[in-house]
Amino acid sequence: MHDLIIIGGGPAGMTAAVYAARKMLDTLLITKDLGGQMMWTREIENYLGYQYITGPELIGKFEDHLKRYPANIVYAEVTGLQQRGDGTFSVYCGDREHKAKAVIIASGKRPRRLGVPGEEEYTGRGVGYCATCDGPLYAGKAVAVVGGGNSALQAAIELSVVASQVYLVVRGSFKADPVVIDKLRAAAKVEILRGYVARGVYGGETVEKFVVADNGGREKDLAVQGVFVEIGLDPNSEFAVGVAKLNRYKEIAVNCRTATGVPGLFAAGDVASGPDKQIIIAAGDGAKAALVAYEYLLRNY
Ligand SMILES: Cc1cc2nc3c(=O)[nH]c(=O)nc-3n(C[C@H](O)[C@H](O)[C@H](O)COP(=O)(O)OP(=O)(O)OC[C@H]3O[C@@H](n4cnc5c(N)ncnc54)[C@H](O)[C@@H]3O)c2cc1C
Repeated sequence: MHDLIIIGGGPAGMTAAVYAARKMLDTLLITKDLGGQMMWTREIENYLGYQYITGPELIGKFEDHLKRYPANIVYAEVTGLQQRGDGTFSVYCGDREHKAKAVIIASGKRPRRLGVPGEEEYTGRGVGYCATCDGPLYAGKAVAVVGGGNSALQAAIELSVVASQVYLVVRGSFKADPVVIDKLRAAAKVEILRGYVARGVYGGETVEKFVVADNGGREKDLAVQGVFVEIGLDPNSEFAVGVAKLNRYKEIAVNCRTATGVPGLFAAGDVASGPDKQIIIAAGDGAKAALVAYEYLLRNY
């Protein structure tokens, strides 16, 4: 029986783990990886202390900091969460059960899917969800990016440096920061297809064609070797259904102190219901959750 289990090793979970270690809590961090979405981020210009840093570099700094403490880390996927009769928790990774008196859920978000024919079949063979990670593989090739927010526009800008042609497929208007829209307009080789939606991905071994359609249903074939889907993120909250309350976006509902309403259960970062999703906010949330969990443990055990 641990004092605390933290689920997720992004900025929220790693910061919570450092704060918990400094309170000498017996903590288990269960995560699929260390870093979370920062792994997909090429340029970070808004994390204080670093005017410019890449995602992998910032992960390295977080990891070095975390590993200064005796971190107890299990690399696994959490598949279930239950509150036991005595108020403690069981966290399941498949058949494996871990127990703790308190839990912080910091499992973040994952890319949303298009849901069109061929998407699943070609994932990893031309369909991707991280232009920063996979962009260099498309040097000299034609690619399409789907989406109209910051991530999609940044992906199109990054890809325009290596690809021979970039099609940006946007259903409606841009929902990106003005500074990003300005950078996009300055990027060469980007053709914006506004008012278009995805219809399907086709090819042989790898992607050869992306079919899109305009508002009137007229289809257009794009001869591309890569399709990057950048249409937003869904929270990794499925394992908490039935224990924690979710909001309409399937985020875990919390108050301003990261409490879920279930005694001993807290949620921090992107998976939680706060409106703003940023590294510095997730890290701050993680710190808060660990301090609140510590208070809970002091009062109850
Ligand atoms: C392309 C992109 C660019 C961005 N750029 C910036 C930027 O420049 N500046 C900025 O401040 N923010 C940026 N963000 C947002 C920022 O990355 C997130 O707000 C932040 O990473 C959220 O941290 P988190 O710890 O809550 O979740 P995440 O980073 O999503 O981490 C979640 C962790 O939980 C783990 N996990 C998930 N499910 C499970 C499970 N079932 N079992 C075990 N482990 C699990 C994951 O493996 C991961 O380690 C960007 C996001 C994206 C996608």
